[in-house]
Amino acid sequence: MKLNITCIPGDGIGPEIVAEAKKVLNKVAEVYGHEMIFKDVLMGGCSIDAYGVPLTQETIDAAKAADAVLMGSIGGNTSTSPWYKLEPSKRPEAGLLGIRKALGLFANLRPAYLYPQLKEACPLKEEAAARGFDMMIMRELTGGLYFGERYTKEVNGELTATDTLVYKESEIRRIAIKAFEVARKRRKSVISVDKANVLDSSRLWRKVVEEVAKDYPDVKLEHMLVDNCAMQLVRDPAQFDVVLTENMFGDILSDEASMITGSIGMLPSASLNDSSFGLYEPSHGSAPDIAGKNIANPIATVLSAAMMLRYTFNLDKEADSIENAVRKVLEEGYRTTDLMGNAKESEFKKVGCSEMGDLLVERILSL
Ligand code: NAD
Repeated sequence: MKLNITCIPGDGIGPEIVAEAKKVLNKVAEVYGHEMIFKDVLMGGCSIDAYGVPLTQETIDAAKAADAVLMGSIGGNTSTSPWYKLEPSKRPEAGLLGIRKALGLFANLRPAYLYPQLKEACPLKEEAAARGFDMMIMRELTGGLYFGERYTKEVNGELTATDTLVYKESEIRRIAIKAFEVARKRRKSVISVDKANVLDSSRLWRKVVEEVAKDYPDVKLEHMLVDNCAMQLVRDPAQFDVVLTENMFGDILSDEASMITGSIGMLPSASLNDSSFGLYEPSHGSAPDIAGKNIANPIATVLSAAMMLRYTFNLDKEADSIENAVRKVLEEGYRTTDLMGNAKESEFKKVGCSEMGDLLVERILSL
C-alpha cells in the first residue's frame, strides 16, 4: 500500500520526535511491504520565521493532498520567544486552530493507557494502578461552549457575561458514529458522558447517542454524568473503554485521564474528520526547554503514527507491531530522561531521543 503522509515537524522538539516516528514508519513499510511517501511542510513558529505567518495555504494544500498528517508540536517559550509579541491571530497556535478548521477535524481521540512498566509514575492508589487501565477519550471538537455566542454587557447596572452551549443533532451524530466505530476496534464498550440532569444540550446528546447505538448492537452503551465520570476516573479507571463526550467536558476529562498515566511523553492523539483522514500528534507541547538536546521522548509521536496506521489506513497488524515494540523497550528497561522519575540511573538504561527511535526500529517485527 502507498501511504501519502504530510509531516509538520513544527518547533522545539517537534523535528527530533517526528524524525524518529518516520524511522519507525519506514521500518514498518519494509517489514510489511508498504511504501511511505513523506512530504515535510512548515507550521507554527518556523513558518512565522520563514513566511511571516504561522500557517500558509501551501501547508493547508499539502495536508489536504495527503491521506494523513503527522505532526510534532508547535510553539515556543511563551515568555521569551518573539513569536508571542505578535497579536494572537499571528502566533504559532493560530496555525493549529487554522489547520484543524481547514481540515474539518471534529473528533479528537486521546488514549490513556497505563503501561505496567511505568505504574510507579501513576499518581493513583496502588490497587487502582495495579489493575491498570486502557481507555480512549473521544472529544467533540467543533461545537459546544467554546464556539457558542458569547458577550459581556451591563445588565441592571452590573457587568454580566454570557456563554452559550449549542449542539446540533448532526454534530452529535457524526462523533457518536466515530465512537462506536472506534469501540468496535477495542473492547466494544462506550460510556457517553453528559450532564443530562441539568442541560438541554446533554439531553439531546443522550437521545442522539441512543439512536446511533441501535446500529451497533455488538457495542455496549452506558451513560454517565460528567461529575461522576471525573470521580470514577481517579477511583476506578479500569472500567472505561471508549469515553464519548462533548467539547468542554472532553477538554477537562482528557487532561485528567492523561495525568493519571503519569507520563506526558507517552501520550498520542488523533483528530479525525468524516472521511478516513486524520491529523496525528503527541498530546504534549514543543518542550522548548529541552529542544535540540536529543533527550526528548519520541514515544508519544511514534504511538501517534501507530494510531494513523490503525484509523486512517486500517493497518491494525502494523499498528500492533509499533505498540508491541514500545512495550518491549520498556520491558527491557530502556527509558528516556522523562521516564526515569526518581529511579536511580543504575535501575534503568537511560537513552536519548534518537537511540530510543533506533531501539523501536529494531523491535518492529512481522506479526
Ligand atoms: P510542554 O508539553 O511542551 O512541556 C511541559 C513539560 O513536559 C516540559 O518540562 C517539557 O520538557 C516536558 N515534555 C513535554 N514533552 C516531552 C517529551 N516528549 N519528552 C520529554 N519531556 C517532555 O508544555 P508547555 O511547556 O506548556 O508548552 C511549550 C510550548 O508548546 C508552548 O508554546 C505551547 O503553546 C506549545 N504547545 C503546543 C501544542 C501542540 O502543538 N498541539 C500542545 C501543547 C502546547
